[in-house]
This record gives sequence, C-alpha cells and structure tokens, in this order.
Amino acid sequence: MSSLESVDPQIAELIGAEERRQADTVKLIPSENYVSKAVLEATGTVLTNKYSEGYAGKRYYEGQQVIDPIETLAIERAKSLFGVNHANVQPYSGSPANLAIYLAFMQPGDTFMGMNLSSGGHLTHGSPVSVSGKWFKPVSYNVRKETGRADMDQVRELALEHRPKVIFCGGTAIPRIIDFPAFAEIAREVGAILAADIAHIAGLIAGGAHPSPVGYADVISTTTHKTLRGPRGAMLMADDDEKATLLNKAIFPGLQGGPHNHTTAAIAVALHEAAQPEFSTYAHQVVANAKALAEELSNRGFDLVSGGTDNHLILIDLTSKGVPGKPAAKALDRAGLETNYNTVPFDPRRPFDPSGIRIGTPSVTSRGMKEAEMRQIGAWMDEVVTALSKGDAEDVITRVHGEVSELTARFPAPGLS
Ligand SMILES: *Cc1c(COP(=O)(O)O)cnc(C)c1O
Repeated sequence: MSSLESVDPQIAELIGAEERRQADTVKLIPSENYVSKAVLEATGTVLTNKYSEGYAGKRYYEGQQVIDPIETLAIERAKSLFGVNHANVQPYSGSPANLAIYLAFMQPGDTFMGMNLSSGGHLTHGSPVSVSGKWFKPVSYNVRKETGRADMDQVRELALEHRPKVIFCGGTAIPRIIDFPAFAEIAREVGAILAADIAHIAGLIAGGAHPSPVGYADVISTTTHKTLRGPRGAMLMADDDEKATLLNKAIFPGLQGGPHNHTTAAIAVALHEAAQPEFSTYAHQVVANAKALAEELSNRGFDLVSGGTDNHLILIDLTSKGVPGKPAAKALDRAGLETNYNTVPFDPRRPFDPSGIRIGTPSVTSRGMKEAEMRQIGAWMDEVVTALSKGDAEDVITRVHGEVSELTARFPAPGLS
C-alpha cells in the first residue's frame, strides 16, 4: 500500500481503519465474508485498465489476448463447480444480474412472481421501490405465519391465477432450505420460467451443504461475494442454449458495457478455491455453526423465525425480548458484534425500524471459529439485548467488547494483514 499511502494518505488511512475494524469485530452479517489474499490480489490488478465489451472471441476492442482466456477460465470453472452448461460471469453485481433475467424473458408490464421482501425476498424480486416493481407487475408470495417457511400452496394458487412469465425463488433472509423441485413443478404447470436466486447460498451449494437448483431452475442467478467468498460480482447460469443466449444478450449489450476484468479474474480464483475439498468442509461448518448459534439463542429465549436454521442464516424476531431490531443492532455493534436489523415476516414495524435482526455464520467460519465460539457469541448477544431491554446496557457493552477483542485476536481473518 506504499504508493497509496504517499499519493492519498487520507484514503489509505481510512482503508487501514476499515481493515482494523474488520479484524476486531465479530462479523455476523450473513451476506458478507472475508475473501482470501489471492482473491484480493487478483482484484487489485492491471486488468482494471482493459475494455472488453462482448464475449471471448467476439469483442469490440483489440488486445484481448489475455482477457479472453481469463474470462473463459472463470466460465469453465463456474460450469464445472455448479454442473451447468452455460455461465455468464460479467454481471456487475446481483441486482443487475436479476435485471438481466427480466430483460431476457419479459416485456415491461409483464407479470412475474417473487417472495415478498418482508418474508425474505430481495428488493429486485418485485419490491415497489425497485425497478422490478416499477416496470413489471410483481405478484408476491409469503411464508406461512405458523411455520416461517415458504407457503408453497400460495405459490401454486397465485401462479395458476396470474400466469407469471417468471417465478423467482430464493431471497436474502431465508433460514430454511429452498424447495427447488416444488418450485419447478409449479413453474412447469403454468409455463413460467423458474429463476433461482442463490446469491446467499451459492457457497453452500458449491460445497454440498445445500441442495442445488441445477436440473430444476431454468436460470440461476448468484452473487459471488457472499457464501461463495469471491469478489463483489455476480453470475448467471443456465443449461438450455437458447436461454443462455438470451441471458448473454441481456447482460451485453442489453444492460452493461465493458465487464470488470479484474473482478472476473478474482471470480475465477474464488471458483478455484471453492472447488477444493477444504471449501466443502467450510460450507458444512458454516451450517453446523449456524445450527449451534441458533440453538444457543433459542435456549436463551430468542424467537427465531421458522424456529431455527438449515443454512448459514438466522432471523431473530426480538419482539419477545422487548427491544426493536435497530437499537439492538446498534448496541451489538458497539459491543463488537456486527449484525443488521431486518424485517421479520408480517412485521408490524417499518423496514427502517423493524422488529428483527439478521445474523449468519459465513464470516466467523472463515476465521476458523467452531461451535464453542458460536455458543459464546450467543451468550454475548443475550447479555447485550437483555441489558438493553432493562435500559442499562453501557457496562455490559464495554465488558462484552473486551471479551470480543480477545476472541477476534485468537481467530485472524483471511485476507487481512
Ligand atoms: C445480495 C442479493 C442480491 C443483490 O446483490 P447485490 O450485489 O447487492 O446487487 C440479489 N438477490 C439476493 C437474493 C441477494 O441476497
């Protein structure tokens, strides 16, 4: 970082501060992770200098002798890791990847289905504030109130009634296994395209710790920076040649210009890492850790949406603890436990001040923490939230922060110096 320090000491100092913050906190945000030093190195390369609109062998700029094999390697690794026929590694991030699915298979005003935001769906699955909800006609399905799990009867009823062009499954706050075969059956019945958005669980699928949508979903969209532990980016995958061509055209020239080649190289590195046996061990430990943490929280009286977890993610309804999500997340952050406040299904409160918090284990597992550390984290969360509900959390926050620092010092995060 020596050039950065001399050219722009302000930004260098801020990046250093963020690195220390990441090292010193227990990161429980389920959509985040720590990439390896190798992924970081690929991201910070001269590949950022190159324009390469188009696809390998069909570019609009000369000088692609090196970029073409890099992008081809990334594609081949994605195909082999997930077992699909086609992959596009150019989407800038998960949201544009999903937008490309709409562009590929729908016209403005067309109807599609996705999971309601407050049930765990993503903004891009039809929220009225997103382009997906403004330019298309979303029909939202929910989880069942009693079980906290996707209401497949409602999915089928709505699909038969509205005949959507596309049905999205997947989301950002789903603690349970997604039933891809059940969604596929409904999509077939109504002639809809099934889009599986595996942004959160791609790493678990790659590591064999969650069932794969391959063979069920027509198209698959994923980010690369969550459980997959790559750089910020996304991929679109499909088996069918025609659908893959439509997706490629939707990304370029439909939505995007030049691909971010430094990101493409880092995605290739992450896919290589995810194909190693250690990554499968990692993915299974992420789930084991989430189950241990969920059990500890449950034993301590926390109300978990759906009663627990099958994956990396836990959604907590704090109503029973007498503290809303936002003040809880802020107090936990001050204690060194980084979470995010989140709506829970049928939340009576508003998205900016909801009833719940969302946590997950991808990052702490990347640091090598196991079940014992999860139980300790659960105990700390309980101490902070309980103190907050009684109105005197300051002493507890200070003490827990000290103990958190001792823990993070014992488990250095990958990629940080
Ligand atoms: C994170 C996420 C996205 C969006 O990804 P960005 O990279 O933040 O645009 C889309 N869908 C789901 C299910 C996600 O979890």
